[in-house]
Amino acid sequence: MNCEIITIGDELLIGQVVDTNSAWMAQRLNERGIVLKQITSVHDDAEHITAALDEAFNRADIVLTTGGLGPTKDDITKKVLCDYFHTRLVPSKQVEEHVRKLYKNRPDVLNRLTATQWLVPENCTVLTNRVGSAPIMAFTLNAKRLISLPGVPHEMQVGMQEQVLPWLTEQLPDMAQTIAHRTLLVSGIAESSLAIILEKWENALPDCLHLAYLPKDGTIRLRLSLYEDAIDVLDEQWNQLKELVQDYLVVDEDKPLELVLGQMLLAKGQTISTAESCTGGRLAALLNAHSGSSAWYWGSVVAYDNSVKQNVLGVPADVLETHGAVSEETVRYMVEGVRNLAHTDYAIATSGIAGPTGGTPDKPVGTVWMAWATPDGTYAECFHLGSGREQITTRACTKALLGMIQILRKFG
Ligand code: ATP
Ligand code: MG
Repeated sequence: MNCEIITIGDELLIGQVVDTNSAWMAQRLNERGIVLKQITSVHDDAEHITAALDEAFNRADIVLTTGGLGPTKDDITKKVLCDYFHTRLVPSKQVEEHVRKLYKNRPDVLNRLTATQWLVPENCTVLTNRVGSAPIMAFTLNAKRLISLPGVPHEMQVGMQEQVLPWLTEQLPDMAQTIAHRTLLVSGIAESSLAIILEKWENALPDCLHLAYLPKDGTIRLRLSLYEDAIDVLDEQWNQLKELVQDYLVVDEDKPLELVLGQMLLAKGQTISTAESCTGGRLAALLNAHSGSSAWYWGSVVAYDNSVKQNVLGVPADVLETHGAVSEETVRYMVEGVRNLAHTDYAIATSGIAGPTGGTPDKPVGTVWMAWATPDGTYAECFHLGSGREQITTRACTKALLGMIQILRKFG
């Protein structure tokens, strides 16, 4: 059985809001063995929504939509669905009670516009939106199903988990099929060189398997996907793939690098701190994004200005003067400074030129010095991370984490 998603909202089409809903939904559908064939984004426009629905139903058995369920004039999805299914809006006691309860301490919100939230298409099944006022609506058209969810990501997510996925499983018990993805991460090799290493093996892959190359910040994710009931075949080829890339393998799971590092530290009962100049706290944001990180992450000194490098991290003034902020000497002082300050086992420091201004002939934009402090010594390396401020800083974070993981594996 195939599924499609239609995300509705002008904001998605002008680039004001990035459509994260469909990516999140795609992951949940895949986990359940539901094959997603297309994602479409459309304006809050009746003609476009109707055409998108027609097209999606030509191809798919299940269509999920998000957005446009609010009580304001710009949100028209409910009205369009009413026309599409030749029905009319009727008041729903169930939704009214829910909305009144939701806003029992907010009498200002219970106005005549909010009251339109409990008008629902007569022939739909209402699924409760526990955390919002817009009802989730499920329609059945012959053997096909349409479910309309709110656009607000949290409301959509709670609705999917608590209502929509269980409802679909009950309605269409045979919809799931085998879908399995295995992903590994390699670094230190160009995509084309990797493809040459894998060429012979890839050409001989059975038809039920598909290999994808996903480059990201100087690393490459390799994903092997299976859409048939043949897990043994996947296991066998997966092991072969891991062997072929073993010299470059960082991790054989689809797991963020900071989590890989955190789990290594946790297993050893060790800790880390960071001193960040060009990454400006991004390493800190990554490292504390995961629950439980306080067990191994101390925090960061965002040492952007030289005065912080000097006064907080103890980089000597003459080192900054002689070698500059972006230098091996400076990052070594930074990393040892933060490790001493935090009393952690390990530390990472970054200092670079993220641009677009500030580059010089001997230190062009993209030059980033990095250092890693360990109980047994400090390592430093210079990278040239291309152009574009955003790209340079994200690549610097990746290099910093990769460097620490590699040092821990080798010497930890
Ligand atoms: P509400 O009842 O809150 O108005 P709604 O169903 O009408 O919900 P929208 O008004 O379309 O939802 O969107 C609400 C907000 O949700 C938008 O401002 C946007 O920030 C976010 N949003 C909508 N669609 C998406 C999407 N596809 N991905 C990520 N965020 C989205
Ligand atoms: Mg909208």
